[in-house]
Amino acid sequence: MIQKGLLFVVSGPSGVGKSTLCKTMVAQVPQTMLSVSFTTRGPRPDEQDGVDYCFIRESRFREMIQRDQFVEWAEVYGNLYGTPQRQLDEAMSQSTDVLLDIDAQGARQIMKRFPGAVYVFVTPPSLEALRTRLCGRALDSSDVIQRRLQSASEEIANFRSYHYLIRNEELTKATKELESIICAERVKTERLNTQWLRQKGLIEEPTIKENSTIV
Ligand code: ADP
Ligand code: 5GP
Repeated sequence: MIQKGLLFVVSGPSGVGKSTLCKTMVAQVPQTMLSVSFTTRGPRPDEQDGVDYCFIRESRFREMIQRDQFVEWAEVYGNLYGTPQRQLDEAMSQSTDVLLDIDAQGARQIMKRFPGAVYVFVTPPSLEALRTRLCGRALDSSDVIQRRLQSASEEIANFRSYHYLIRNEELTKATKELESIICAERVKTERLNTQWLRQKGLIEEPTIKENSTIV
């Protein structure tokens, strides 16, 4: 597979605002797409199959694991979640940047397989703010919210494994920061095809030196 697009991994505690931020990127930043994960969790009232997640039974999920159809997968708060290999390959072979909104276990697996990806950790301004968001979202039971809050501190402790840290306090600022990261990563010299600089005469044509190295 020839990778043309960049891979951005956006991770952080549940309820911190990852999907809000990623969906805004896809809406605002051209040439970005969000990978649609598979999950055994049931759909929430506002979720659409194939758009927010592909909702499947556990037996089918386990079959996909056996067939090696996930780039990464993890059990998160009692449900299984995974990033499908085929869709990711297809997306990255086009010139579109792909965002993965995944938990910390998944991010660790992707770090091993895609060292060239860009890793962004999103943190809440405080645990209290996180609790307010999880309660405000009103989609999970108090038992589930409690479990999500307990894991949050452990996840935040590992923020140094990521390239960037976004404090999602004010959504507009956090959105701008994520957009800036994407834009900056796109213009890194190591990633750019700079042949046009020679074609336009902005740098000299390569000359062959005596030892045959092209400079
Ligand atoms: P995650 O995908 O990380 O689980 P969500 O994107 O679903 O989190 O956000 C959880 C809740 O917090 C949602 O109701 C969302 O509207 C809200 N939210 C996201 N960012 C902020 C913010 N900066 N300030 C206040 N509420 C926010
Ligand atoms: P939720 O049930 O709130 O949609 O998601 C719970 C957690 O699972 C979130 O932290 C989310 O980022 C994570 N998640 C969603 N899709 C995937 C995936 O494909 N792989 C992994 N490892 N985590 C995922």
